[in-house]
Amino acid sequence: MRAFDYRRAGDRAEALSIARTETARYLGGGTNLVDLMRQNIEAPAALVDVSRLPGLIEDTPTGGLMIGAAVRNSVVAAHPAVRARYPMLSRAILAGASAQIRNMATVGGNILQRTRCAYFYDAAGSHCNKREPGAGCDAIEGFNRYHAIFGASEHCIATHPSDMCVALAALGATVHLAGAGGERNVPLLDLHRLPGDHPEIETILRPGELITAIELAPSEAAANSGYRKVRDRSSYAFALVSVAAGLGLAAGKIEDVRIAMGGVAAKPWRAARAEQVLRGQVPTRERFREAADTELAAAKAFDGNEFKVELAKRTIVAMLSELAGTEA
Ligand SMILES: Cc1cc2nc3c(=O)[nH]c(=O)nc-3n(C[C@H](O)[C@H](O)[C@H](O)COP(=O)(O)OP(=O)(O)OC[C@H]3O[C@@H](n4cnc5c(N)ncnc54)[C@H](O)[C@@H]3O)c2cc1C
Ligand code: SF4
Repeated sequence: MRAFDYRRAGDRAEALSIARTETARYLGGGTNLVDLMRQNIEAPAALVDVSRLPGLIEDTPTGGLMIGAAVRNSVVAAHPAVRARYPMLSRAILAGASAQIRNMATVGGNILQRTRCAYFYDAAGSHCNKREPGAGCDAIEGFNRYHAIFGASEHCIATHPSDMCVALAALGATVHLAGAGGERNVPLLDLHRLPGDHPEIETILRPGELITAIELAPSEAAANSGYRKVRDRSSYAFALVSVAAGLGLAAGKIEDVRIAMGGVAAKPWRAARAEQVLRGQVPTRERFREAADTELAAAKAFDGNEFKVELAKRTIVAMLSELAGTEA
């Protein structure tokens, strides 16, 4: 681990100012970044601690919820408004990591955590385009059980590991940002990039830009929502496939539906094609399966993760059936 300066920002302006003047990285709970620094995969000259910036969870004037970027994951998951109005978000967070890590991890850090591809972490012995552009990708013909079935490129097939982000994608969350050029908002779905020719560029963030909050809009489907995560161990394991979904029903038909998948792409994957199939339809298992088949028709698996295609379909059907009360 290389030596670095540690600076604790007293407020947002100070954080932005330090990040502008040094080769700095923001520090949330440090549960991902510090691990990467220990292994010399990341080596910032300075860490700007933003974990103590004021962070609140409060109602918005439009009936939604604003969640500060420094709020700890466990606080978000336990908040009564999140549990009542956005249960998929609470369940997604609780499905991730361990209680100790969730107590440390922040909203901003969770969104920007990096892939768990084993070759990315193996700096001593593996080729990885994300770690070292142009080096190659050992996962494509190697151990790719956890890797992408959507949106991969010939340069990288890694997945984004966050559970929380899958729920945020299904909820259509907005990310609030602040930087040298002022403030701006972007949809969470546009924040992470697919790998393309440059897997080392993972988001659309500008240098020194700080995540300040996420905003959730009010939604009936969000209140009737859940999260299912399929993994190799029943706890303390990253998703093979996960599904966050919400269902708004009116007069026996699907009025609003939100579906996103985790463990399948370099970003949380909104299942827009499946949603399209379901809108206005009577909720049945057969219709859910048709929607899942439609979404997964575009999947492209590798030798070690072909099972994910059927697994994703079944997880979508199971999640939606639970929400519709049509479980077998
Ligand atoms: C053993 C283990 C198991 C885990 N299992 C899971 C799991 O099952 N599911 C899951 O989802 N996650 C899991 N995680 C990952 C965990 O959720 C993340 O490490 C955590 O959410 C990162 O949050 P943090 O605040 O500690 O981020 P940090 O490590 O502090 O930062 C991560 C990144 O975010 C940047 N950053 C932080 N805050 C901001 C901000 N406000 N604005 C801009 N940039 C910022 C940092 O510069 C850094 O690049 C696991 C982690 C471990 C160690
Ligand atoms: S999948 Fe991406 S992160 Fe993994 S080895 Fe290949 S380039 Fe690196």
